[in-house]
Amino acid sequence: MYFTNHTLVFHGGQFIPAEQAQCSLYASSLHYGHAVFEGIRAYDTANGTRVFKIKEHYERLAYSCRATSIPLAYSVQELTDITYQLLKKNNLSNAYIRPLVYAPDPMMSIKAPTSSSLFMAAWEWGNYFSNQLTRLTISPYQRPNPKSVPIEAKVSGHYANSIIASHEAKSRGYDEALLLDINGYVAEGPGSNFFYEWDGALYTAPAGNILQGITRNTIIELARNMGIPVFEEFFTPETLHHATGAFLTGTAAEVVGVASIDDHVFETPYEATIGARLAAAYAALVREEVGARATRPAVEHSA
Ligand code: PMP
Repeated sequence: MYFTNHTLVFHGGQFIPAEQAQCSLYASSLHYGHAVFEGIRAYDTANGTRVFKIKEHYERLAYSCRATSIPLAYSVQELTDITYQLLKKNNLSNAYIRPLVYAPDPMMSIKAPTSSSLFMAAWEWGNYFSNQLTRLTISPYQRPNPKSVPIEAKVSGHYANSIIASHEAKSRGYDEALLLDINGYVAEGPGSNFFYEWDGALYTAPAGNILQGITRNTIIELARNMGIPVFEEFFTPETLHHATGAFLTGTAAEVVGVASIDDHVFETPYEATIGARLAAAYAALVREEVGARATRPAVEHSA
């Protein structure tokens, strides 16, 4: 349930009831996918409600706006203030926050908008350890070519690729797709970054052809602090045949263990993998060591 009769959202420069937030069916963003967004999480911590890496998320939103020529009328600080007010007004602490910057201009011509609108909503997102392993398949769809679109920006239109790839993987009985880049190297999931493990080290795609996840960067930092070597390098799907484990990372799902990739089933029990250790370390970090208790299993992924 995303909203009730009492939910407030931020739209048009003010907090209004969710049911009253509307946009035109002629809005350019709706027709062309030319909008940018973020997926952010707040946690109930020892120090009260804290939004994890809020500055990084809003800096990425500002970057996404610049990369797509969408004007952004708010500073990182203003976005931060609106977010905390939104959480407070809705009495939320463990929550998912979705800011969207879209172009309300009519779609009659294909051009960069002269102004933008900010929509921000939040809803409860429980505390849980993800204990469901995911079965991946290499997608026949590639991630978008970075020479066609700014792939490091979180652009709404890019998610047509994500939805198509994810749906195709599910139609073949898998849980999720693993997409390659334009050169055939492993890139990322439709809404998450990918790591594999081998010989006590972690490997993940380098920046350039992926969305550089804030969770990905946090995991790399945590791993290095734990003395685990991390290599950001290109690798082919065939390389994964000798991997001993793998996991996905993202704000919504945190760290999700991978059971298999196509026919390759990981024999090492997930609990014995580096991914499981990092999942626990990540859960403790975001919750500032408090409230990191499993209350329900992960049931859905979000971008
Ligand atoms: N890749 C894609 C395509 C995504 O949509 C996401 C989710 N934002 C990620 C990676 C992970 O990014 P983050 O850790 O910042 O949520």
